[in-house]
Amino acid sequence: MKLSFYGAAREVTGSCHGVEANGTRVLVDCGLQQGADNGFGQSFPFHAGDIDYVIVTHAHIDHSGRLPLLVKQGFKGSIYATEPTCKLLGIMLRDSANIQEAEAGWRARKQRRSGDEDVQPLYTAADAEKVFPLLVPCHYGEMIDICDGIRIRFTDAGHLLGSAYVEMWLSENGVDKKLAFSGDIGAPDHPMICDPGYISDADFVVTESTYGDRSRPEAFDTISELAKIIDATLPKGGNVICPAFAVGRTQDLLYYIREIKKRGLVKQCPAFPVYLDSPLASKATKIYSGELLGYLDEEAAALVSAGVQPLSFDNLYFVETSDESKLLNDDRTPKVIISSSGMCDAGRIRHHLKHNLWRQECAVVFTGFQALGTLGRILVDGETSRVTLFGEEIAVRCQIFNFRNMSAHADREDLLKWINHFDPKPEKVFVVHGEHETCKSYTARLIGEGFKAIAPKYSSIHDLITGEVLFEGRDLMRRTEGEYVAPQRDSAIYRRLVLAGTRLIEVITRNRGGANKDLAKFADQIDALAAKWKR
Ligand SMILES: [Zn+2]
Repeated sequence: MKLSFYGAAREVTGSCHGVEANGTRVLVDCGLQQGADNGFGQSFPFHAGDIDYVIVTHAHIDHSGRLPLLVKQGFKGSIYATEPTCKLLGIMLRDSANIQEAEAGWRARKQRRSGDEDVQPLYTAADAEKVFPLLVPCHYGEMIDICDGIRIRFTDAGHLLGSAYVEMWLSENGVDKKLAFSGDIGAPDHPMICDPGYISDADFVVTESTYGDRSRPEAFDTISELAKIIDATLPKGGNVICPAFAVGRTQDLLYYIREIKKRGLVKQCPAFPVYLDSPLASKATKIYSGELLGYLDEEAAALVSAGVQPLSFDNLYFVETSDESKLLNDDRTPKVIISSSGMCDAGRIRHHLKHNLWRQECAVVFTGFQALGTLGRILVDGETSRVTLFGEEIAVRCQIFNFRNMSAHADREDLLKWINHFDPKPEKVFVVHGEHETCKSYTARLIGEGFKAIAPKYSSIHDLITGEVLFEGRDLMRRTEGEYVAPQRDSAIYRRLVLAGTRLIEVITRNRGGANKDLAKFADQIDALAAKWKR
């Protein structure tokens, strides 16, 4: 019975954890690495065809974005997720595949011009299509026997529509162990979805730590603050631009704007138009407006049963084509525009920023996490009076607001409350899904509170029966002059070699207890290989 870490180990993206019991191999999440978290590229340190099942905690790409790659490389098993997660995966993985193809096409053109070899996309839209027939939609609270000796249950994590914790009961040779995976834990008082729930017992817990080192800012009334900004901006002839993640944050904004309109909070132009300028966000909004019994909080469920669509209101327009999007910039009617990407590093939002940042009468409202190095972060930090967009210098003169309290992640206090709900304390807590220092500091905090906790390293393997660490794994960050920085980018082929080595370690641990003669032969072969390549 083993637990391995194939992603989000001392990193904040690429969640992917391996569980093995009775010879069956299960992955919990299969996320894409994003941004700076790219130490090992996106390859797996195992054969995709050796994995029997995948369980997905929620649809965010950093928890699901490598599913098409897994299928492309030979995975044929079932993928378990809640019903809304399955629906959201339908749009998000197609979108992710389109991005992969577009980026590879762009890089391939560049490479060809420099005479280098061709670039292939990580996966294509056709690979993404092969994921969907494997999905098994499940419900919160349902006990699911996925095979002999492995049983799971999803519980509402309050982070995104359909998001879940996974409880997993393992049974091997008469020994029973229970695991709990947090996925991403939500923040309380999120529109439409329920507050995060709790789990009361587990032998081992794998917990996220995204905000394990900070507290949420003082709560403020998002609806009235947003209404004030709209009411102050539109009558001056300005636009309110909202960069927002297409799935989750956009729907939160639509929910708040419907409330603003219903309560008549924008006095001077109560019929103000709102343009949703993101095809992915429009598709996600349709899913959020579909049949969601059992997945909505009380307030949203009451609205739906009274015949009110929580995300629908007068003068809401869905912008589909990029030509329609460009036309918005010629139309002088003051309006609210919600567009993505949420961190302004790509997508249609950049056009809207180009046309509005320089106008004093406009406002930009940020509602999500802005990673270091993104245009969004530069704007919220307010450290520049000019930015470059599409090769043009644009002055930053509009008002910029940052609604930091709209986070969809539990803060340190929420995380501690969640982990302290386990009674008795788990045998061990594995801290994942946080920036390097955050993982370590939250782990130290848990140890201080009496937990046995570790921040596992990438590709480490843990025996859940003996408690032994079978393989230490690799820390993807190194310390330089007191600061942790990402390792140097190695060539793709060198990374392949390191992954092959990681696989070898895994094969070694699987041979434990084998016949002495076989083990000696195996050791001789490795020694010979090492001698041959010693430089
Ligand atoms: Zn998430």
